Amino acid sequence: MFASLSDRLTATFRTLRGKGRLTEADIDGTVAEIRRALLDADVALPVVTTFTDRIRARAVGAEVSGALNPGQQVVKIVHEELVEILGGSARPLSFAKSGPTVIMLAGLQGAGKTTFAGKLAHHLKSQGHTPILVAADLQRPNAVTQLEVVGERAGVPVYAPERGVTRDDERSKGDPVKVAKNAIKEAVKRQHSVVIVDTAGRLGVDAELMKQAGDIRKAVDPDEVLFVIDSMIGQDAVATAQAFQQGVAMTGVVLTKLDGDARGGAALSVREITGVPILFASTGEKLDEFEVFHPERMASRILD
Ligand code: GDP
Repeated sequence: MFASLSDRLTATFRTLRGKGRLTEADIDGTVAEIRRALLDADVALPVVTTFTDRIRARAVGAEVSGALNPGQQVVKIVHEELVEILGGSARPLSFAKSGPTVIMLAGLQGAGKTTFAGKLAHHLKSQGHTPILVAADLQRPNAVTQLEVVGERAGVPVYAPERGVTRDDERSKGDPVKVAKNAIKEAVKRQHSVVIVDTAGRLGVDAELMKQAGDIRKAVDPDEVLFVIDSMIGQDAVATAQAFQQGVAMTGVVLTKLDGDARGGAALSVREITGVPILFASTGEKLDEFEVFHPERMASRILD
């Protein structure tokens, strides 16, 4: 991820190397090149504009003094603004003051919700929590089974709709809102400290999906609603993120598939577009390919 963006930015900064001072023309050229690199990386246009406006304003006014030469100063400004776009500082997960912490996951089908549910459960378990996973995705025939596989791998129990109903088509008739509500009761009874609710996704944003996710949100009153988004989604990131913001009012974002070789625009757009912080990143299919998201580290990775 970001390989081509990183190369482009590095090449741009190289043209500033050795310059004693930067003219406005130097700054214009650099900002234009940064803009092209971000657009080619699929970063959303309003984000690109905000970002490059800030860089220009700061580069023009930058003091040419101190230990950094002008080129290094531009790199520093770009780094700081990248950190800003990515959310400033890391935002830890919020936990309930009493009773189990409820974390609901929402996102499009294939975004990586179920995989992430396992990773988060595994991560929380390693920190001493006692999570339970809830299969409230009753749309996809094998979603419940998939979560059970993930739960087994993570060593975390899974609350699924009535066992005994084995045929997938029968299962899919279950009511995900009831499943989620019952799961919370069960979690309280069994003293689980965290309940992770996996919800259904569709291939595209649709009204029924949003209503269902919104109903589950109302029913379980979550401490966190995490919107899971595939970093490879490209320019659709903005519309998708906005739709979920309206539909489920997410409190945090999870970026998945950061290990892919796509251009990474979604990763750079979603925080700025929604104002919602990125909490975690998923970097592969395995349980431990998971990161707590740090804007500073991500910015350094992009600029290295
Ligand atoms: P869901 O429909 O949102 O529950 O998505 P899944 O968790 O089933 O994931 C969809 C596909 O993406 C599966 O093949 C996963 O193995 C894969 N996947 C999920 N997260 C990642 C990731 O971070 N990196 C990569 N490379 N693949 C992932």
